[in-house]
Amino acid sequence: GRPICECNACYTGPDCSVIVPNCAVDADSGNPMFLEPFWKQNAGSSSIMVAGWHRMGYEFEDGSLISKQLENVIHKLHETVGNANTSNKYILFGSGSTQLLNAAVYALSHTTYSSSSSTKVVASAPYYPVYKSQTELLDSKKYKFSGHTSSWRNKTRNDKFIEFVTCPNNPDGRLNKAVLHGKFTRHIYDLAYYWPHYTPIPAPMDEDLMLFTLSKLTGHAGSRFGWAIVKDKAVYDKMVEYVDLNTYGVPRETQLRALKLLNVVVRGDKKEMFRFAHTVMRSRWEKLTEILSTSKRFSMEQLPSQHCAFSKQVRPPSPAFAWLKCEADEDKDCFNVLRAANIIGRKGAVFGVENRYVRLSIVNSRDDFDLLQQRLQDLVSKDRSIV
Ligand code: PMP
Repeated sequence: GRPICECNACYTGPDCSVIVPNCAVDADSGNPMFLEPFWKQNAGSSSIMVAGWHRMGYEFEDGSLISKQLENVIHKLHETVGNANTSNKYILFGSGSTQLLNAAVYALSHTTYSSSSSTKVVASAPYYPVYKSQTELLDSKKYKFSGHTSSWRNKTRNDKFIEFVTCPNNPDGRLNKAVLHGKFTRHIYDLAYYWPHYTPIPAPMDEDLMLFTLSKLTGHAGSRFGWAIVKDKAVYDKMVEYVDLNTYGVPRETQLRALKLLNVVVRGDKKEMFRFAHTVMRSRWEKLTEILSTSKRFSMEQLPSQHCAFSKQVRPPSPAFAWLKCEADEDKDCFNVLRAANIIGRKGAVFGVENRYVRLSIVNSRDDFDLLQQRLQDLVSKDRSIV
């Protein structure tokens, strides 16, 4: 018989094709479900089966917590894509890059020596909110979240800083660069979106501390797998200490799954998944740009095209999020403007800026994106008929 499937929340009917009237579309969550069809097409080669007796112990046979095979495929992946230089650098794993954000803050604040004892943790607004909330949650004497980089330009002197540099940035898709350059400033490059799905890759990154995540690469956010590429041995050792004490490593099931998935990503001509992901993201981005190009009420940042060394083409970016601005004076709360049109975004204030900005996720499932497109189209056409 027909498999019993649940419809997406805003769809109903026997084949889930009828839109529920006035249902609010979820463009809030960054759940990367757009990659699901690729994994359905590659179901056989990407699946794992773990027998009850298998991989029960804490450590691998060599006593380590990290699969060597997985480490090797990560080197190969970066070499293939050309987005990060991993040679002569250490790799460690985390439960998503979420765990590694704080492992990195911990390690850098314990390995940078200056007369001041506390480290200021900063980011450029708009920034990914977890940098602040996680640093505050852990409430350490060693490091404090200290706001935006813009408040500290040319004021770094003897203070210790850790600057998060997110490239491309969540929420606005910009290829951010480091802003602070003091003697005791260290950088954490969060490269969650530095993949050809979302941005041209002009050159490999070669920074001292770079973070990546499976979540935005293959879409397997629920497997909770991230990795750090670290230049300095002392920083690497401190990060390993953090992960050891925090969770004693990443589940072996997760490592097995990541290995299986990444082997699909790097096999053959090594471009299949990237071709799929970029085609989806580019087409979504073109549709959004077209809808919003006719609107005076909403604007979206224009990001420049660049040469992509991976695809050997000049390409426009196709970011994971649309960063929308409400232009009209009276639309100070852009979230509510969209909410009234049955679109749920994420408020600018969450990212440390005014609520005139809203982030819309465009990495979720096709159903969610199609509905978002329709709701935006309706909203923009209605505005035009008022004008
Ligand atoms: N950094 C950025 C910029 C992100 O957007 C995310 C996920 N939303 C993460 C890190 C964390 O990802 P994960 O823990 O799933 O690896």
